[in-house]
Amino acid sequence: EGIPTAIVGRPNVGKSTLMNLLAGYDRSIVTDIPGTTRDIVEETVRLPGGLVLNIADTAGLRTTDDPVEAIGVTRARGKLEQSSLVLAVLDGSAPLSDEDRELVLSLRERPAVAILNKSDLGQSGDEDWVRQQLTHCVTLSAREGTGLAELDTAVREAL
Ligand code: GDP
Ligand code: MG
Repeated sequence: EGIPTAIVGRPNVGKSTLMNLLAGYDRSIVTDIPGTTRDIVEETVRLPGGLVLNIADTAGLRTTDDPVEAIGVTRARGKLEQSSLVLAVLDGSAPLSDEDRELVLSLRERPAVAILNKSDLGQSGDEDWVRQQLTHCVTLSAREGTGLAELDTAVREAL
């Protein structure tokens, strides 16, 4: 079936864009509106090296007044707890938020890969901090489709 895998992170960092890149088609809705993904979107994907992941794309982790989005965030947290592998997506082109740092720190004892996305927009300088916390960290651009080989390697090392 594939390794149960959760894609998590705050809204708008590119979780669904990464999901679609890995799936090879437009599985999840992508917009620049935070809170677009609400329900969990699942897909079985094969990484370049042959590893099969059962991926769940999730709502962006944040506190929200929108009752439907709030249910999605609760589901996202549940999926995060249940998964064997976590892909923690961060916007590597912007400074990390407190929530980003909390997420990274919460994953230190688990099979997890930090993904510094949006590398096409440049780098904020927080990469060193992330690498100090999590052994497995890759920089990529989900929109441009670069860095998948590095992701494949990092996932295999994290498992
Ligand atoms: P999500 O809320 O984390 O699922 O983020 P989305 O995948 O919906 O993407 C949010 C916005 O960021 C969209 O406008 C995407 O096109 C954009 N985006 C996603 N990945 C990248 C990337 O690698 N580079 C750039 N420049 N934009 C990206
Ligand atoms: Mg999304």
